[in-house]
Amino acid sequence: MLNAMLADLHTHSNASDGQLSPAELLAGAHAAGVQLLAITDHDTLAGYAALNRSLAADCRIIAGIELSTSWRKTGIHIVGLNIDLDNAELLAGVARQRDARRERAQLIATKLEKLGFRDVLQGARQLAGMAEISRPHIAKYLVDSGQIKSMQDAFRKYLGAGKAGDIREMWASLDEVIGWIHAAGGSAVLAHPTKYKLTNLKLEELTRDFCTAGGDALEVISGQQDLSLTTRLGKLAARHSLLASCGSDFHQPGQSWARLGVVAALPRSCTPVWEAW
Ligand code: AMP
Ligand code: MN
Ligand code: MN
Ligand code: MN
Repeated sequence: MLNAMLADLHTHSNASDGQLSPAELLAGAHAAGVQLLAITDHDTLAGYAALNRSLAADCRIIAGIELSTSWRKTGIHIVGLNIDLDNAELLAGVARQRDARRERAQLIATKLEKLGFRDVLQGARQLAGMAEISRPHIAKYLVDSGQIKSMQDAFRKYLGAGKAGDIREMWASLDEVIGWIHAAGGSAVLAHPTKYKLTNLKLEELTRDFCTAGGDALEVISGQQDLSLTTRLGKLAARHSLLASCGSDFHQPGQSWARLGVVAALPRSCTPVWEAW
């Protein structure tokens, strides 16, 4: 029964803002009984280069990515699944997002330094290691260096939606990122639809625009969520004839709301995105 398949199609490694290496992530997913795994790092495919795919034979790995885009001034994430990692159009798009991310990190750092914070770019870069800088690296640096109390405070006051460090103008458009995913033969998924804190009407409009741009699936399950939300998102997917995806959005051990491989079954009314593969 396909719906009973344990699929975690949204996870992060230390190639972006996750904590585990791709190999540790795969081992963890295998241990959690995941049968279908996608590593979906932010705007990078670097995790796949570091992965020995023979590590877990009974855990099928689906190549994935989480692309940053913006829609009506809101940062929106599109997950690409089952992509060809060698596709030239996708690789060119990913290179563009990498440059955008570097430019953005500099802009965020400059803004925060004007507000009195010190050494933001250097500090975040050190924490990011081989990865490109993302906002959690900046937040963690501010906490580690004693410049702010907590990650939550950093996002609430400086980095979250609408704050000084919420810069998203440089991301590619919805059409472009979906175009890259399709060029690479993949399925485009509108990630964690309720994390954007849109009104019902706006979410309906975003979903409609996502469909118009050629989007394929809605992430009906994102980490631990109430059954009522799953039901609501299942209906949203059905109204727009979208397939359904599911994933933990795992970043690191210890976060109870996003545990690796802890992904509820999709509603029976949904068609899983992997049926198309
Ligand atoms: P970026 O890719 O640089 O835009 O950073 C986005 C990432 O920041 C998300 O994928 C989350 O991992 C993290 N994030 C977003 N909002 C928050 C928040 N309020 N608190 C903690 N982490 C957050
Ligand atoms: Mn993240
Ligand atoms: Mn996301
Ligand atoms: Mn994610």
